[in-house]
Amino acid sequence: MNKLFLRDDDISFLEPFFPWLLKVLVDNKIPMHFAVIPTGPIGARVETHSLLKEVVKAYPELFEVGLHGYTHIGLEFVDPTQDLSIVKQRILEGEKILRDLYQENFVKIFTPPGFKLAKEFLPLIEELGYSVSSSVSKEVQSKKSYSITFNIEAYKDPNHKELGERFATGEELMSRYKTYIALDRACLKLNDTDRALGILMHHAHYKDLKNFEANIPNFVNFIRLAREENIELVKLSKLYD
Ligand SMILES: [Zn+2]
Repeated sequence: MNKLFLRDDDISFLEPFFPWLLKVLVDNKIPMHFAVIPTGPIGARVETHSLLKEVVKAYPELFEVGLHGYTHIGLEFVDPTQDLSIVKQRILEGEKILRDLYQENFVKIFTPPGFKLAKEFLPLIEELGYSVSSSVSKEVQSKKSYSITFNIEAYKDPNHKELGERFATGEELMSRYKTYIALDRACLKLNDTDRALGILMHHAHYKDLKNFEANIPNFVNFIRLAREENIELVKLSKLYD
């Protein structure tokens, strides 16, 4: 059975529609991996953590939290000349922040900020017990690392052209899912016949509640179609069980 996992990146500020997204996910029993920025000027705020913490704790079967870089600023995981001890320190400090907050719902999945990770750092990150969940980049590939193919932005952000396409409807998203599975592109191969494919979202790109409310039914419709097609929705970490 083919599987689908979802990842929401850049959990930082408490945007007005984040609580709405959480409600949509809970109401529709949609699993989500939250890639949380642990610290720094754009790192997750106390109020974001306090909301997410409660929801993740109440629905551990649906939600989990992973590490999205350290500060998400600059070249913290990009510059290959960076000392490995500094890279290690960032990972461990970020992990401590998130583990203290989310405890057993923190999972050791590392999402590189900006989809970029120097391949020189990959062995260290895996040594620290992490799987690496990237995005459109093909740079990061190992048996514990894979790329997520496309995303479900509400609309194209001119600053994020590389992220993917805008999908207006659930049907379009489903057709795209099937195309990628059929082409065997950017899927996690589970066995001879079954594949897992991830969809990435950035809830913060919805910008405002009006835009969110206009677009979120497409996402929910896509999920409904996936269930009709017997595509199993899983938490990202489940793919490593
Ligand atoms: Zn990010």
